[in-house]
Amino acid sequence: MVCRETEGFMSLAICPGSFDPITRGHIDIIRRAALLFDRVIVVMMINPSKDPAFSAEERMDFIRRTTAGIPNIEVDYYVGLLADYAAKCKATAIVKGLRVMSDFEYEFQMALMNRSLNPGTETIFLPASIDYMFLSSSAVREVGRYGGDIAPLVPDEILDEVKQRLCVKKGL
Ligand code: ADP
Repeated sequence: MVCRETEGFMSLAICPGSFDPITRGHIDIIRRAALLFDRVIVVMMINPSKDPAFSAEERMDFIRRTTAGIPNIEVDYYVGLLADYAAKCKATAIVKGLRVMSDFEYEFQMALMNRSLNPGTETIFLPASIDYMFLSSSAVREVGRYGGDIAPLVPDEILDEVKQRLCVKKGL
């Protein structure tokens, strides 16, 4: 039997997203991916047609700071197709979190598209943890903008900055 490990094979997963901003739900998926793969690259996908609430620099800084304690994590960004990025770094897998059933249809479509563009990389879905089933970056932005408590949603390391940046409408 040929064992991949004996040939020096290192499994590599990528966790893509817009991370606008990174949430406790993202961190949960990233940590779990880091237990399954030798290396994990968290890649912030930049979509020039989107208008994010946080700049690319801010989002990268937030990702770096909140994943700094996980030893096999690297952080990167990419402008272009995820399938091309996955091929470029020879990723074993794209890891995505699935929250509610409504995520499924879109994610399944993306997985099929990515596999047809790059058959060398599989998409793997991890079920969201119960605590983060209904957590999204857009929920953080919405709650934060109106001064609601986002502490349960956002990692401690970036909480104050995210709060300050979002809470512009509080005095209205
Ligand atoms: P969002 O969907 O919150 O706008 P992203 O586009 O950055 O965030 O999502 C990147 C990936 O993270 C997607 O695969 C998404 O399903 C996953 N994800 C986002 N929030 C959660 C969560 N609360 N639990 C599990 N996975 C999540």
